[in-house]
Amino acid sequence: TMLQTSPYSTSLMNKRLDINLGARSYPIFIGPGLLREPDLLRPWIGAQQVMVVSNTTVAPLYLESLRAGLTGLQVAECILPDGEIYKGLNTWHGIFDALLARRFARDCTLIALGGGVVGDITGFAAACYQRGVSFIQVPTTLLAQVDSSVGGKTGINHPAGKNMIGAFHQPVAVIADTDTLSTLPARELAAGLAEVVKYGLIRDPAFFDWLEARADALCNRDAVALIEAIERSCQNKAEVVEADERELGQRALLNLGHTFGHAIEAGLGYGDWLHGEAVAAGMVMAAELSRQLGWLDAAAVSRIRRLLTRFGLPVAPPPGLGGERMLELMAVDKKVRAGAPRLVLLQGIGSALVTRDVTAEQIMASIDATRD
Ligand code: NAD
Ligand code: MG
Repeated sequence: TMLQTSPYSTSLMNKRLDINLGARSYPIFIGPGLLREPDLLRPWIGAQQVMVVSNTTVAPLYLESLRAGLTGLQVAECILPDGEIYKGLNTWHGIFDALLARRFARDCTLIALGGGVVGDITGFAAACYQRGVSFIQVPTTLLAQVDSSVGGKTGINHPAGKNMIGAFHQPVAVIADTDTLSTLPARELAAGLAEVVKYGLIRDPAFFDWLEARADALCNRDAVALIEAIERSCQNKAEVVEADERELGQRALLNLGHTFGHAIEAGLGYGDWLHGEAVAAGMVMAAELSRQLGWLDAAAVSRIRRLLTRFGLPVAPPPGLGGERMLELMAVDKKVRAGAPRLVLLQGIGSALVTRDVTAEQIMASIDATRD
């Protein structure tokens, strides 16, 4: 007999992955309706005091559902203004004001309800409040569900650079309710898909094939396809983080497209292109450079461009940002050490490596080659 899997039977769609980091291990729950599951949050909360940190966009949408799972606890809220520009010292400090005003103790729990900005800032507050308290990630953007909520990188921006102040601090649980993606703007969804494609490119060729097959379903926010994409992305990220929690080695492969992408973001002024959009164009540049070095064939570069285009993502730098200016901006990126740009390149779809062995001329040529 066949097992009936109705899309309305949420328990069949819920997934649990575990990220194994010894004493810092934690589960990642993925699925629809998780915010409404009354018993999902409670096991990860040690004591009575809970501070939910969210922002002015996400709180009106999802805070009430989240609070329903926190009955019987002493729950406080800290609602931040929305935007990357608020991911700084003042906002971060404001979380401590809220915690101290309510005399929150060392055994309290912070809950980050929102996208990567809320997650990064809340995680970094949890890393520092009274030398470190627990926190739970409840990511509500696709980017946060596939990337920023997993792996323990937390932090804030400094006027001199993005994510320049921060700490490694792992959450005690990640709860990714895929229903929250229904309210996400289409551009934000696409930006998250760029990071999903990244996992296929750096280490999971079968996942890249699957993304090509399910691209339309993903664009149409098909629930089953989204859950599978998030699960496979988290699985890939978990494996990389398990092998290299503090980015001394292979975790750097997660930066595919990012050195080029950061140059685009910096060149345009942050906030014009979304991070995932810049990463998409950056991955095409990395692929093109790999092709020019003879490591990747032209057919693979075309497949990458085609998939990103289907997701509505850019595959070339913005007009007006030339190879030379891009290179200048890449030289101040934090991933560039001692002059030579350290780049993640491809040796095929599903295989990446870090190299310093490319010249400025080769980099500029590949950037300009992506523009037709
Ligand atoms: P974001 O947090 O700014 O969210 C994007 C927008 O969507 C915001 O306006 C937000 O309020 C809104 N939003 C969030 N959830 C929503 C929902 N369900 N419905 C409607 N609107 C919603 O951006 P992001 O892309 O989630 O995260 C980007 C940040 O993540 C950057 O600061 C980046 O540095 C960081 N990041 C961190 C890591 C890490 O490992 N820690 C990895 C990647 C990115
Ligand atoms: Mg990224």
